[in-house]
Amino acid sequence: MITTDDGVREGNFVRFDRAFWAFGPAIHGFQFCRPFISVDGTHLYGKYKGCLLIATSFDEDNRLFPLAFALVEKENIDTWTWFISCLARQVVRGRSPMCIIFDRHSGIIRAVRDVFPRPHRHRFCIRHIIANLKKRYSVKDLNKMVWTCARAETVDQYDHEMQILEEVCPGAKEELTEDMSPEQWALAYDGNMSFGKLTTNSFESALASAIFYRMNAWFVHRREKAAQVTGDLCPSVDAHLRSVVDDARHVHVVAYGDGIFQAGEHRVNVMLRECTCRSFQIYQVPCVHAIAVCGAIHYDLHQMTSEYYYASTNARLYERVSLGCMNERLMCLHGEVLGCRKVQSYSH
Ligand SMILES: [Zn+2]
Repeated sequence: MITTDDGVREGNFVRFDRAFWAFGPAIHGFQFCRPFISVDGTHLYGKYKGCLLIATSFDEDNRLFPLAFALVEKENIDTWTWFISCLARQVVRGRSPMCIIFDRHSGIIRAVRDVFPRPHRHRFCIRHIIANLKKRYSVKDLNKMVWTCARAETVDQYDHEMQILEEVCPGAKEELTEDMSPEQWALAYDGNMSFGKLTTNSFESALASAIFYRMNAWFVHRREKAAQVTGDLCPSVDAHLRSVVDDARHVHVVAYGDGIFQAGEHRVNVMLRECTCRSFQIYQVPCVHAIAVCGAIHYDLHQMTSEYYYASTNARLYERVSLGCMNERLMCLHGEVLGCRKVQSYSH
């Protein structure tokens, strides 16, 4: 699927300044990905300047899942709005709510706000927030402290870590809360929409073009891998749950009725898939307390895990592997892009 601006006809060619493309298998697979999108831009270096805008998601094993690309002359409100609108129309297709993470580039912020208003959620990449803070404050361990605040899973932990940050680095707290809300960067306030993600998927342009050329082979490889999985859950989540099961045996469980249990210091609601530690809601994978409860009541852990981590979901995510007849033409388009400032394509 390719979308361009109207372009200018020059003989047998149409010359256009922007091109957006998304592969059919990725559009199909995204239905089975978590409702989470990372958007980012990277400069194409070389003789001619230009920017590659990229939208990615994650598959069930937290591997990057490329969704859409666009070539534009530069990053600004206009080009970002065009890219985000194409993404909404061609890839997201009304799926809601969606969580979108990006760097705090003014062009992206405006574009995402306009195209994906509430109930969609917007998050800022923590690496970018920290880079901005470091321009103002040179405090030892600033990086580590802000990461700790962002990773805090409960409001109490967040308040505690923010207080420590403010004591060590006066003014940083105000900086972090003045023109953005904690739901835009802290897990404690993520509205159960972040899946624990705090950063965008950064790209090097070389990697981006390599992904472009290798996507077909990549889809085939992932499908083969997905077909080899024999359990109910994807391997990384399965391995994680197994690693926590031993710890869970030491957690004391008391039943209160109506699916509510005390598990050690925390309270688990099996029906709502919630725990007061909040890890269960954030990652949508049972925390140690929920695992202890499942063990006590002989409940299947599989049932307590988000379906985005099911092996069957993964198989569907990669089921359409052929990039089809557009492949050759896209390669041609891409070759032109790397070679000249204006994008050329055969008229259609
Ligand atoms: Zn818990």
